[in-house]
Amino acid sequence: MGRISVIKGLENSNQAHNNTARHIEEIFGNHKSDLNEIIDLSQKVKKGIQVIDPFLQQNTSIVCPGCNKVCCIDQHSYYSCEDLIYIYSLGLEVQECESIDVTAPCRFLSSEGCRLERAVRPSGCNWYFCDSLYDSMEKSPGSAYYDFNDSLQELTDLWMELVNEFCCKFKKLTGNEMRIEDLMSSSKRRIT
Ligand code: SF4
Ligand code: SF4
Repeated sequence: MGRISVIKGLENSNQAHNNTARHIEEIFGNHKSDLNEIIDLSQKVKKGIQVIDPFLQQNTSIVCPGCNKVCCIDQHSYYSCEDLIYIYSLGLEVQECESIDVTAPCRFLSSEGCRLERAVRPSGCNWYFCDSLYDSMEKSPGSAYYDFNDSLQELTDLWMELVNEFCCKFKKLTGNEMRIEDLMSSSKRRIT
């Protein structure tokens, strides 16, 4: 679920992946009442991200202002197809874009940091921790870093449960397999 997988997805992006995004959108459009478990899991993921947000914010505010290789570039502003399961579960709208400027700064980046609430950032953003950020987090007083690690593990487990449940539900509702490798690719969609 790291940023590397998102970049890889962008490189491999093709019509098949657009179809994956469309299938996910359609299933939420046509079968939302059958997806209550998925929606509940997404709400839990959202709460889990909100739990780790203050600790991350505290540490990014220490390390990011002095960074000379800012990781927030525009190609990271897109959701993976996997992210769309979560995003559509939350009832959010996304827009599809065909062209990606791989070098431009991310459109959501401001002088105050990311303008998106952490809970709706692409997972590649939320699961990426550079060395400086790790160093800062590990130096946090008391048990803060260990508590964060525990919360992150719970979050990872919940995310995997969400994806697996969706794949099972997708097969039940459509008779088709949802391939994990397609879910890992970019949807070329981002929040409006
Ligand atoms: S997370 Fe790391 S790489 Fe990204 S802007 Fe902050 S310090 Fe730089
Ligand atoms: S969405 Fe936010 S965290 Fe992700 S690359 Fe853009 S500014 Fe950075």
